[in-house]
Amino acid sequence: MLSNTKQKPVNIPEIIQEAHNTFNSGKTKPLEWRKKQLQNLLRMYEENKNAMIDALAKDLRRCKMEAILLEVDYLINDLINTLNNFDEWTKPERPSKAIINVLDDVVIYNDPYGVVLIIGAWNYPLQLLLLPMAGAIAAGNVVVIKPSELAEACAQFIVETLPKYLDNDAVIVVEGGPEESTELLKQKFDYIFYTGGTNVGKIVYAAAVKNLTPVTLELGGKSPVYIDNSVDMEITVKRILWGKFINVGQTCIAPDYILCSKEVQEKFVEFAKNILKEWYGEDPQKSPDLCRIINNRHFSRLQALIDASKDKVVIGGRYDAQDRFIAPTILANVTASDKIMEDEIFGPILPIVPIENAYEAIKFINSREHPLVLYLFSKQGKIHKLFTEQTRSGSLCVNDTIMFYGVETLPFGGVGNSGMGAYHGKKSFDTFTHKKSCLIRNFASIGEKLASSRYPPYSDGKLKF
Ligand code: NAD
Repeated sequence: MLSNTKQKPVNIPEIIQEAHNTFNSGKTKPLEWRKKQLQNLLRMYEENKNAMIDALAKDLRRCKMEAILLEVDYLINDLINTLNNFDEWTKPERPSKAIINVLDDVVIYNDPYGVVLIIGAWNYPLQLLLLPMAGAIAAGNVVVIKPSELAEACAQFIVETLPKYLDNDAVIVVEGGPEESTELLKQKFDYIFYTGGTNVGKIVYAAAVKNLTPVTLELGGKSPVYIDNSVDMEITVKRILWGKFINVGQTCIAPDYILCSKEVQEKFVEFAKNILKEWYGEDPQKSPDLCRIINNRHFSRLQALIDASKDKVVIGGRYDAQDRFIAPTILANVTASDKIMEDEIFGPILPIVPIENAYEAIKFINSREHPLVLYLFSKQGKIHKLFTEQTRSGSLCVNDTIMFYGVETLPFGGVGNSGMGAYHGKKSFDTFTHKKSCLIRNFASIGEKLASSRYPPYSDGKLKF
């Protein structure tokens, strides 16, 4: 179904034309208007916590704790931070100036881009759409958002709830899947912010190029973990398993695979057996804390990956198609050429690839596409330095997983195949802001005299000035 929150007009070119008209009317620029929208959005989160938790449970069987921690409270905290810093962030900047400009005003204005398109993914269907939306509103843009069609209940929540709180002329929801996205991408936007897989990211980028539209691409890929033998193994295993099995691995920054020595692999598997039993019980299918796979297509993809690695399963490996359940699964002694090492796993399967040492791990990582995040577990400063200096990734997180994502002063985004651009905290505001440089001079005679050597007729003597 194709609709927008106002129900009319009903076709995408008209919707986008109206969005441009709204921006051109100047409605979204006043700081008071923006603040009001953000306050209304905060009220929406606070008044609809249960509805958000319910929608996440319907789409992903997300438990309440993960729903609050990873989406609802995450959105609220980010928005409170934006509101607290709003006056500071929106102020024109006054950079330092050279002696020649001492009589001038040198200013950087924070201009909105105009009409922004935000396309969301299904795995964190609220957070990945509404967090950049808040940044775009704070920056004074008109925003068109397209929720993922795969997280139906969350998309429905957004379509029904957002218009009750936000200005319907300036925040527009377009429902639909690839067909509607394709139609949207034919239109001219002033900024496009896309979250999803790398293949579709390339389609979005190609569409943006036609209008020279700037983009942020928040993509995916295989995020590796390296563990050396200096770590506290129990804490390491807990932090990695938690990062992997929240949302049953359907997390863009989930650890995708582990690189470690055979000795570390053995210890890891021993601890993992006990910890997983402690967390999810003898039968993890009965645990209320494990989500389900989003749809049958993704379930079959993951089932095929387990079937292709049956001899390497050391924990889990069980699945139930009717329930779209896959048990937390660990594979040992995986090799670089195994099928599981081809694409991003995006599910609860964690392969361990034995390697000799940190140098081999770095070589392995550098022989593949730059990951969205690289996880390193080591107590050794020299190993931290080695990975920091010799690898490239969107983010680097040492001795934990996922937690870097919650640090609002750290911009989040990929590099190379894992994406371009970043957001979170002030970086969200800056992403949707054009930094307009401005030099303001006056007509004072002293200034004119100082700079008059620039006028013809030119001479070498004038160059010495
Ligand atoms: P996807 O690329 O299939 O879909 C994302 C969005 O693109 C959806 O709204 C979808 O409707 C739209 N879309 C699908 N086909 C399209 C087409 N042909 N043209 C235009 N738009 C199209 O991604 P997904 O399956 O929803 O998400 C999984 C991927 O996203 C994983 O690779 C994951 O790592 C990545 N991801 C990245 C981040 C991040 O912040 N970097 C966050 C979540 C997910």
